[in-house]
Amino acid sequence: MKKHDIEQKLNNDIKSDKLYKQLLAPKEEKIITEQIKYEHKEICKKCGGYCCKKCGCDYFVSDFKSMKIDYLEQILETGKVSIVSTLYFDRLSNNKLLCIPKLYLRARNNNRDVIDLLSFKTRCSQLEQNGCHYDITTRPSGGIALIPSHDICYSKIDRLEELNKWLPYQKVLERLVKRYTQKSVIEKLKEDVENLVYNFFVGNYQDSFEEEIDEIRRLLPLLSECFPDECKRAIIKYQNQSKLVLPKILKKTK
Ligand code: SF4
Ligand code: SF4
Repeated sequence: MKKHDIEQKLNNDIKSDKLYKQLLAPKEEKIITEQIKYEHKEICKKCGGYCCKKCGCDYFVSDFKSMKIDYLEQILETGKVSIVSTLYFDRLSNNKLLCIPKLYLRARNNNRDVIDLLSFKTRCSQLEQNGCHYDITTRPSGGIALIPSHDICYSKIDRLEELNKWLPYQKVLERLVKRYTQKSVIEKLKEDVENLVYNFFVGNYQDSFEEEIDEIRRLLPLLSECFPDECKRAIIKYQNQSKLVLPKILKKTK
């Protein structure tokens, strides 16, 4: 990167940090005091940031000053946050399986877009050499809620309960998905399913942990039932690519 580009990037980072801080709701004093009590930097240092290397952490609705569309768009424009989804599956009485995405905000993962409904989870973009880029006052609440332990780290807050608090704001998040992608949530999800299945078959998940790959492997049967056309297209694309790649490999070995 040229000197001018580095300076430009630094300036942009400073601007986006400033904007991010301004937009967040201030955390209650008692939450900060309590969190300082729970923080065990030594344990996290020893661990090396496993949770943050696995995926960015969740934002709670309470992290934000407003749920208005233009406000949330500013948050997304900082480049630090993505709209993501958690998928619920519901088997109807006629045996049809429904996939229902519930949208919420999460710290953006490396090499992922502002709209990241379904993909292999990667390292959080805010994880730096010495830990999280944020301090307690600006860290997403999902990260704050995680209590470090020498054995198994645990969340002191019910994650599902917090995810449910995003339900009243689905419409505004859907509109943002449309603004950024010109697609409805279901259209975007279908596109993501196709990419995910293709990436799975070609092994394009080097930045993800083994647990994540296993999770996606377990998800595949459900996705193939709910999105048969997208899965079929991904497999055909993979097969066509394999045919193209194969002669090259054979050529090398001759
Ligand atoms: S919270 Fe747990 S998993 Fe995350 S860095 Fe600390 S010790 Fe590691
Ligand atoms: S925002 Fe900070 S605490 Fe949350 S996953 Fe990223 S690096 Fe970890």
